[in-house]
Amino acid sequence: MKDEILGAYVEAGKIASRILGRSLPLVRPGASFHRVVEEVEALVRAEGAGLAFPLNLSLNEAAAHDTASEGDDRVFRAGDVVKMDLGVHLDGYIADTAGTVDLGENGPLLRASRAALGKAISLVRPGVSTGDLGAAIQGEIEALGFRPVANLTGHGLGRFEIHTPPTVPNVRMNGGAVLKEGMVFAIEPFASTGTGYVSDGPRVQIYQQTGDRPARLPEARRILDQVRERHGLPFARRWLTGDKLDLTLASLVRSGHLHAYPVLRDVPGSLVSQAEHTVIVTGDGCIVTTR
Ligand code: MN
Ligand code: MN
Repeated sequence: MKDEILGAYVEAGKIASRILGRSLPLVRPGASFHRVVEEVEALVRAEGAGLAFPLNLSLNEAAAHDTASEGDDRVFRAGDVVKMDLGVHLDGYIADTAGTVDLGENGPLLRASRAALGKAISLVRPGVSTGDLGAAIQGEIEALGFRPVANLTGHGLGRFEIHTPPTVPNVRMNGGAVLKEGMVFAIEPFASTGTGYVSDGPRVQIYQQTGDRPARLPEARRILDQVRERHGLPFARRWLTGDKLDLTLASLVRSGHLHAYPVLRDVPGSLVSQAEHTVIVTGDGCIVTTR
């Protein structure tokens, strides 16, 4: 890896780590969901960095992909388990990191995802397979009495690409990719009190452009014009301006111009925690860019 690229990954990681550390304490009972999201995103822009994706704040049984909507009036409540997932990029080089805030009494649930992440990171070096990382994650989470979320995974990172090979499973798996020096990827264990499987909910606030085909309708073209500068990185509905946004977004998803990211959730009443870091594989271990 060239020095400039390594430097960008490391610097993006430092920014993401610093901002996540400052932002997790903003999640308190009575605090506004919308205000926290806007405040954290503003911190990223104030650093001169880009958002690799909208700030994800996902509550309780929701594991990922929720963010504030326009006019979102939700507030955090005592008892909530809140995942904050932050993506920062410098010139397209991404740092992806997440933590969980417990507004109840769920210490063991939070420890489970953190311990799994720590264990997986300790194993990263050339020659290890992603299946080995999944087995370690599952072992740590189950030892604390929870279920790993089997259908969410860590993922490779590329320039302006948030999901590239390798996939890093959260459960035991035969085979998998063999790690090599220079690979950049996120490891993100989720621990759940529910089934350990997430499914799409009805709420969609995050989208991503797929390809660069022109659209026909003027409203559709206005949306694509607004997201072109994202270079294919995900964006939030609340970042857009214009009329008939919901109809137009839905039609752009149907026509294949956009990919939708519905909120992913385990069963009602369950609680999910998440921990995430970005790593770069070195000759004998890894650099954790977001620690
Ligand atoms: Mn993330
Ligand atoms: Mn991730």
